[in-house]
Amino acid sequence: LDEMALGGGERPAGELAPNDLEAFWMPFTSNRAFKKRPRIVASAKDMHYYTPDGRAVLDGCSGLWCTNPGHNREPIVAAIQKAAGELDFGPTFQFGHPGAFRLASRIAALAPGDLDHVFFCNSGSEAVDTALKIALAYHNATGNSSRTRLIGRERGYHGVGFGGISVGGMVANRRTFGTMLTGVDHLPTTYDRKNQAFTKGEPEYGAHFADELERLVGLHDASTIAAVIVEPMAGSTGVIPAPQGYLKRLREICDKYGILLIFDEVITGYGRLGYAFAAERYGVQPDLITFAKGITAGAVPMGGVIARKHVHDAFMKGPEHMVELFHGYTYSAHPLACAAGLATLDLYRDEDLFARAKALEPYWADAVMSLKDKPGVLDIRTVGITGAIDLPAREGLPGQRGYEAIERAFHEEGVMIRTAGDTMVMTPPLIISNEQVDELIGKVGRVIEKVM
Ligand code: PMP
Repeated sequence: LDEMALGGGERPAGELAPNDLEAFWMPFTSNRAFKKRPRIVASAKDMHYYTPDGRAVLDGCSGLWCTNPGHNREPIVAAIQKAAGELDFGPTFQFGHPGAFRLASRIAALAPGDLDHVFFCNSGSEAVDTALKIALAYHNATGNSSRTRLIGRERGYHGVGFGGISVGGMVANRRTFGTMLTGVDHLPTTYDRKNQAFTKGEPEYGAHFADELERLVGLHDASTIAAVIVEPMAGSTGVIPAPQGYLKRLREICDKYGILLIFDEVITGYGRLGYAFAAERYGVQPDLITFAKGITAGAVPMGGVIARKHVHDAFMKGPEHMVELFHGYTYSAHPLACAAGLATLDLYRDEDLFARAKALEPYWADAVMSLKDKPGVLDIRTVGITGAIDLPAREGLPGQRGYEAIERAFHEEGVMIRTAGDTMVMTPPLIISNEQVDELIGKVGRVIEKVM
């Protein structure tokens, strides 16, 4: 085992033996390379992870875009501990428990306009499949059962369920799986380096990419189209903020043709862009919002869908004893997740963290943009507390630079970053101080110099 990852010299008691690495088939990871040189974190607090030997690693990506208020915050930990001793499992099929109702009310109050009903699941992928199913069932319930087509976007990421990889726009997610949903189209990506390079926030260029929806309506007829799903900012494919006016334009076209608009806010929800939801930042009300990650600060898995009143109410029309939507998960609104969610929302409110993120955005954007002149940098994008730096692909080895960057950052600089291919992505917790921003950017700058 790598000494730096697990502690120099002697292995601390209770840590991993070499054989322990075998059985875990790691997700989204080069398993063989990782297991030769593992990067292990054993604990976390606020802005830092700690390796088993106690080395601090500055968290530049909020775990995986989820620990928005920082790690292991005391009120969240206490709420989970308390809940674990009270109600281990609370069924939400035909029974209920208080936490589920309370959390749904709190989320509904936070969401803009009449987005006021919440369906719970356990991850972003489940949230996406749930939203797509609600959209299809909605049209069925309102007498428009011919509306079955779904429209996603190139370079969209919507998790790994079959629905999500079908509407998503990442070839790598689909290539090896064969079967997909049929009747799916994709809008073009809104990214155009030639006209947008080194933009802070929403680029001026690109609202017209929404007009492609008109073309798809012309091609298929509106009577066949159920929903459009987009991320207000494409996160996992490298931080691509919506161009100015783009989301409004999508909303107008959807309204014109009776198409439901879904915002996948798994990343943008809960403060990442300085608001509870990106829908608020952009002044655009979608019909459905998916969320996950930041709702529980990553501490307990949870995801969900927020529906506007007219969508929800369309289901509430049959005989009262009928199940209105035949969909759900054993662990929908799990008591531990609800407790974590309530405590997390309290923390966002008590520390005014969304406003804090908004206030920090200019400083953050300037800091990220200061890496512009580092060797090889092709583009930098920032919006809210996110930043992405494109490096040139190493010929024949796509993603190799990204992999090297992660390695060097973790082992040499003591910082955790993520990459999407050759794009380095930064999304630190919203509690990051100006000094920690400088530290993070300094370390990332050194990593770029080394990998280039
Ligand atoms: N949608 C978006 C926009 C995401 O960014 C992600 C995860 N990064 C997902 C869905 C899937 O979430 P999960 O990994 O929790 O299934």
